[in-house]
Amino acid sequence: MIITLKKNADEKQLDILLAWLNGFGVTLETETHGDRLVIAVLGDVSRVDEELLSDMEIVESVTRVSEKYKLTNRKLHAEDTIVDVGGRKFGGKNYAFIAGPCSVESEKQIIEIAKAVKSAGAAALRGGAFKPRTSPYDFQGLKSEGVKLLKKAKAETGLPIVTEITSVKSVDDFEGVDLIQIGARNMQNFELLKEVGKLGAPVLLKRGLVNTVDELLLSAEYIMSEGNKNVILCERGIRTFETLTRNTLDLGVILLLKERTHLPVIVDPSHASGLRRLVEPLSLAAAAVGADGVMIEVHNDPVHALCDGAQSVVPEEFKRIVEKTEAVLAACGDKRIEK
Ligand code: PEP
Ligand code: MN
Repeated sequence: MIITLKKNADEKQLDILLAWLNGFGVTLETETHGDRLVIAVLGDVSRVDEELLSDMEIVESVTRVSEKYKLTNRKLHAEDTIVDVGGRKFGGKNYAFIAGPCSVESEKQIIEIAKAVKSAGAAALRGGAFKPRTSPYDFQGLKSEGVKLLKKAKAETGLPIVTEITSVKSVDDFEGVDLIQIGARNMQNFELLKEVGKLGAPVLLKRGLVNTVDELLLSAEYIMSEGNKNVILCERGIRTFETLTRNTLDLGVILLLKERTHLPVIVDPSHASGLRRLVEPLSLAAAAVGADGVMIEVHNDPVHALCDGAQSVVPEEFKRIVEKTEAVLAACGDKRIEK
C-alpha cells in the first residue's frame, strides 16, 4: 500500500498516522517525492482500513499495490533510480558498458584488458574470480587472488570493478568491490540475497535461467528489503528449447521491466548468445529497446581463454560496439554513454 501525503503535512498528524500504521505490525518506508512524503506500507495490509486512511486530513491518496514486489515497483518510485558504481552512473539518462573477461586469469591478462576496455569507453571492469561452473572439472576461478588482481587493475586504471559472489562465506573478499554480481544460478539463493542486501556496495542481479520477470523483481526485493537500494538488473538470456544459441535473449522484457521497476536494467549479450558474432548486433539491439547498458565479455586472447572464449570479443570489437551504440542511442532516445 502506498500513501501519498498532502504538501506540508502536519508533523503531529504524521506521527499519529505512523504510530497507527505501526500497530498493524507492518514495515514502513518513507520517501520524499518532490514536495510530498510517500509512505510505503509493506507486509500484511489486509487489516488497514483504506477508507479511514483516505479520510485523514494529511492524506492525499492511497494506492494498493497488487504486485508482490513493492520496493522495486515503479508505483512506489516513479523516477528512474540512478545507481552509482564507483563514481559511474547506471540508470536514468546514462548508458553504461561493463566489459572484461569471463574470468580473471593472471595479473598481466586483467591489466591489459582493463586498459583496453577503459580506452574503448567502458564504465566498469568485469572479471569472474569465484566461478560457478557446470562441471566441477572446469576452471573454478582464482577466487580471493582473482579479486585482488581486479583491485590491482582498478588501481592501475581507475575503473570500478564488478565480480560475482557465490557464497555467503566469501563476503569478506568482496570488501572494495564496486558492484557485487549475483549470477543467474544464484538468483534465488535467498540467503545470499539477504547477505548482499546488508552490504553497502551496489548489486548486479542477473536473471535466472528459468525465472520470470516477477521472480527477478522479487529477488531484487529481497536485497532491497534488507536496506540495500542500489540494485541493477541484468537480462542474460533464458533457457528455451532452442539450441543454436546458448540461451534465448529475451529482449522484449526490457521494456516490460522498465515499466514495472525504477531500477536500471542492463543486458548481457555474451552469455545470452554464446556466440562472438552475435555480441555486436545484440548489444545494439539492447540499446535500441531502451536498456541502461550492457555487460560484454572481452578477452585479449579468446582462443586461449580459460572460460567462455567462444563468446568473448576482442578489445577492437568492443571499441566498435561502443562507437556504434553511440549512433543507436542518438537515434533511439536521449541517453548518453557514461564513461
Ligand atoms: C558471468 O557473468 O560471469 C556469469 C557466470 O553469467 P550468468 O550468471 O549469467 O551465467
Ligand atoms: Mn562467462
